Amino acid sequence: MITTDTLLDQGRRRRMCERLRNNGISQEAVLEAMRQVPRHWFMDISFRDMAYEENQAFPIACQQTISQPWTVAFQTQLLDIAPEMKVLEIGTGSGYQTAVLCQMKAKVYTIERQKGLFDATKALLSAAHYRAKCFLGDGFQGLKEVDYGPYDRIIITCGAPSIPNDVVKQLKVGGKLVVPVGETNQQMVRLIKNSEDESGWITEEHGNCKFVPMLQGRAFQRS
Ligand code: SAH
Repeated sequence: MITTDTLLDQGRRRRMCERLRNNGISQEAVLEAMRQVPRHWFMDISFRDMAYEENQAFPIACQQTISQPWTVAFQTQLLDIAPEMKVLEIGTGSGYQTAVLCQMKAKVYTIERQKGLFDATKALLSAAHYRAKCFLGDGFQGLKEVDYGPYDRIIITCGAPSIPNDVVKQLKVGGKLVVPVGETNQQMVRLIKNSEDESGWITEEHGNCKFVPMLQGRAFQRS
């Protein structure tokens, strides 16, 4: 694990945030959080020099990817986070998105289906003092075993075939869920749950994107 954050890293991060701002990210709280969180901690050391390219996704363990900074910023902006909100994340992956949400003072509950990633990322987040609660499980059911819900916000960071109904059930009335929907390519969808009843759910489309797929069940392969 990389634990240093040099002036060079910080400078690159500041410039990345300026470019994010020029590319449609306007929420100050999102930009400020991304200015603070050292993304290079969540990647292999060999990618350090490229960690602050806003359009670069990189491989992490278990054939997964760390999302591009622009995508992290965009999903986080669509969520509309305020401090103390309870946020459920499905697809912990590298933990970078998790850390950005923690930096924004959200209470984060995050689920990962790959045991290798779950173990490594849980340890990394804790070592870096990001206080998310990490769970190993299948996010199609949301967080069933332990009942921390309902959540103010839910973010899915893998491509879902459709909006998982069990997950929407765990969203508060008035809450927002952001999910990339589609098989190979996805559409970024935001659902606003104005009532328990489905007739009060508003869905908005926010453009094309590309994520690794959301898969059923847990996986125990090693990284
Ligand atoms: N936000 C993460 C994205 C990682 S990629 C990051 O920037 O690093 C998406 C992650 O979702 C992968 O780690 C993948 O294993 C996980 N995933 C896929 N299907 C899942 C499911 N059903 N439940 C929980 N996690 C899932």
